[in-house]
Amino acid sequence: MNDTIDHWLDGKAWPGNGPRRSSVYDPATGAVTAEVRLADSADVDAAVASSRAAFDEWRSSSLSKRTSVMFELRRILSERRDEFARVISSQHGKVRSDAAGEVQRGLEVVEFACGIPQLLKGGYTEQASTEVDVYSIRQPVGVTVGITPFNFPAMVPLWMCPVAIACGNSFILKPSERDPGAALLLAQAWADAGLPDGVFNVLHGDAEAVNGLLTHPGVDAVSFVGSTPIAQHVYATGTAAGKRVQALGGAKNHMIVLPDADLEAAADAAVSAGFGSAGERCMAISVVVAVDPVGDDLVDAIAERTRAIRVGPGDDPVSEMGPVVTGAHRDRVRGYVDAGEADGVRVVVDGREVQVDGHPDGFWIGPTLLDGVQVGQSVYTDEIFGPVLCVVRAASYDEAVGLVRDNAYGNGVAIFTRDGGAARRFTFDVEAGMVGVNVPIPVPMAYYSFGGWGDSLFGDTHVHGPEGVHFYTRGKVVTERWADPSTRGPDLGFPTHN
Ligand code: NAD
Repeated sequence: MNDTIDHWLDGKAWPGNGPRRSSVYDPATGAVTAEVRLADSADVDAAVASSRAAFDEWRSSSLSKRTSVMFELRRILSERRDEFARVISSQHGKVRSDAAGEVQRGLEVVEFACGIPQLLKGGYTEQASTEVDVYSIRQPVGVTVGITPFNFPAMVPLWMCPVAIACGNSFILKPSERDPGAALLLAQAWADAGLPDGVFNVLHGDAEAVNGLLTHPGVDAVSFVGSTPIAQHVYATGTAAGKRVQALGGAKNHMIVLPDADLEAAADAAVSAGFGSAGERCMAISVVVAVDPVGDDLVDAIAERTRAIRVGPGDDPVSEMGPVVTGAHRDRVRGYVDAGEADGVRVVVDGREVQVDGHPDGFWIGPTLLDGVQVGQSVYTDEIFGPVLCVVRAASYDEAVGLVRDNAYGNGVAIFTRDGGAARRFTFDVEAGMVGVNVPIPVPMAYYSFGGWGDSLFGDTHVHGPEGVHFYTRGKVVTERWADPSTRGPDLGFPTHN
């Protein structure tokens, strides 16, 4: 019998009212393993009411109390990392070591949030005018919502909720309906860490839940991570309803290899960043730009490594790459490779027909390497979000940087070179939010902020780090005077400083 995955409201699992359900698969077997509930508008109302009531209390909690919850959450998540990895792997498909890695990256945001007293310190100006002092504080925005994608079911929620909650907000998580299990483990962890009921709620669902939250008058701020078309929709709908919105979208990350690069290191990096998590990472490298004359040697080195990748179920310790998330997604990825081949691209390594022993119905597609890809072909223009690495040949550094500039996305980008001057020029020139120099997946540490440019981000603040604190708080400036009452008297002039 399949499990039913409930929402989480007021500190416990909650079935909600909506009758709709969605199937959750084990991508390695193709079997349905659970049904997740899909919220309707009455469920959205209930979640927002719970979060609003919890916010009114939580905003008054002391910073010491909030910090102690964060430290406890950190301890619990570390302890339960393997349990998270098992559940993530069984619903997403990624190998367990990779799933444990995403929990680790999420934990680093909890560590950042442990320092919230320092982060919320305001400014103070004594004697701004005679006997007048001015200070600034930052206060929570209220009920915040996180709408998250399937590909990092623990890390992306953890980019958001530790910072939102440490700032004094309540938080409703609307996780992906494709792998909703980690959200409930996270809810249990918050409860066990001592977070009051209702400060962290989970509402499962699809577009109905998302649109209900985006237009609900009780929601104050929305953080979204997912594909570009939905990010655009979330940003437009949420801001039209008067909410603060940050919406992170898709990506097409380029890795430029200059002729002086260490080719073996560059090939290792391209393969790790292209095929890790079956390419289902927003920071995956999907385009390698080989600057003449390195193309042939680089493609050979990447191909050799690509053929050696062990594809298999995520719970098998020898697997290096698992299946993709659904059968429909596998077919879509295959379709892109077919289209590329029809466009004249050279399929150097072909993963389309990969089979895994004992798992005939899993959602498999092996690592695929395409060479001679041209701008304008769908394998170049579209985010494939699978294990497909495209190689584009460029005649010069300028042509390579131009490719990044002309691409609609601007999430991550990397350069591989031994020339410090070229690397510096690149970091100055390139149009992307996160840049790696000899680092293929330049994910910022938790105490910096994560976000892209162009169609990879709608809104102006990145997630976590200082920009996360800014997003989840509102500024307030207080001007005060405690002068002797005998000096008072009416004065209808505009206040000036003296
Ligand atoms: P998605 O856009 O399909 O779904 C994201 C969220 O939006 C989910 O919670 C989903 O339920 C909801 N949603 C889906 N369709 C909707 C609709 N029509 N209306 C309202 N809500 C809807 O994304 P995904 O397939 O789950 O995740 C993969 C995408 O996320 C890729 O494009 C990837 O690049 C992107 N991503 C970006 C980042 C980043 O930091 N920029 C990080 C991770 C993933």
